Amino acid sequence: MAEALRCPICASADTRFLARTRDVEYFATLDEYDYVCCERCGTVFLRDPPVDQLERIYPPTYYSSDREERGGLLARVKDALDRAFFRELLSELPGDELRVIDIGGGTGWIASALRRSDPRVHETVVVDLNEDMREVAEARGHRFVCSTIEAVDLDQTFDVVMLLNLIEHVRDPRAVLRRLLGLLAPEGVLVIKTPNTRTLDRRLFEGTYWGGYHAPRHWILFNRENFTSLALECGYRVRSLRFTQGAPQWAASVMALLLRRGWVKLSHQRPMVHHPLFALCMVVFAGLDLLRAPFSQTAQMFVVLEKAD
Ligand SMILES: [Zn+2]
Repeated sequence: MAEALRCPICASADTRFLARTRDVEYFATLDEYDYVCCERCGTVFLRDPPVDQLERIYPPTYYSSDREERGGLLARVKDALDRAFFRELLSELPGDELRVIDIGGGTGWIASALRRSDPRVHETVVVDLNEDMREVAEARGHRFVCSTIEAVDLDQTFDVVMLLNLIEHVRDPRAVLRRLLGLLAPEGVLVIKTPNTRTLDRRLFEGTYWGGYHAPRHWILFNRENFTSLALECGYRVRSLRFTQGAPQWAASVMALLLRRGWVKLSHQRPMVHHPLFALCMVVFAGLDLLRAPFSQTAQMFVVLEKAD
């Protein structure tokens, strides 16, 4: 008999099937992927994540749609909001010099934004598993390390460790959090951005295709409570947690719905992020989430962690 499916976070076997999906965003594979929810802790996860197929599930089209290259007004507004958040975050840190690392940082645009936000940022390191990012990252003045987060080997500590929209892509978030504790300077902060599973869009789309699945690239998804308890377990204290808009998730959910209805055509060559309707969805749902934000949780969480002692 097959081993019972267990939650990767709390190990409970009490799970609920949510949806059988395919990669409708990039068509990197034609395989089917099952998403499951843990009934005990609420973690949403991909059954049998394709851990040995990273090159396949992150095709060149995935990187060429790098967020910084998706220009437009909305992206600029969003970046301005993020930068305001970074500035405030950095202003709370002590010291005359700050060392920053962005894990999964691509060409280093966040690291550059942090450097611009505070003149005390004197050293910036970008870790990314895509070697193609090196040239631009180094030209921007960052030290580039080509590595997965699991294998990254640095003998330094950092005042700011950025982990934006990455922890949902790894097989063992607990191991990653424990490892990052060793990269944090005594008064340093770990900044994590990750989807929130307690949202309206998840409830509407979880049985078909929810953008939060980002199938098959999101492996483990959290909510405020289960993420907070995991962070405490791994030796952190939560300095702040806030929700932010999740327009890309809404847009992917809606585009997948239109695809199922046959109203749009998408393919490996023409991923949904390049469809004009995707951009329209981004604007509409960013607005919707901004209106909803005072009354309900939105689709992304910004969590700032510090060492517990
Ligand atoms: Zn669980």
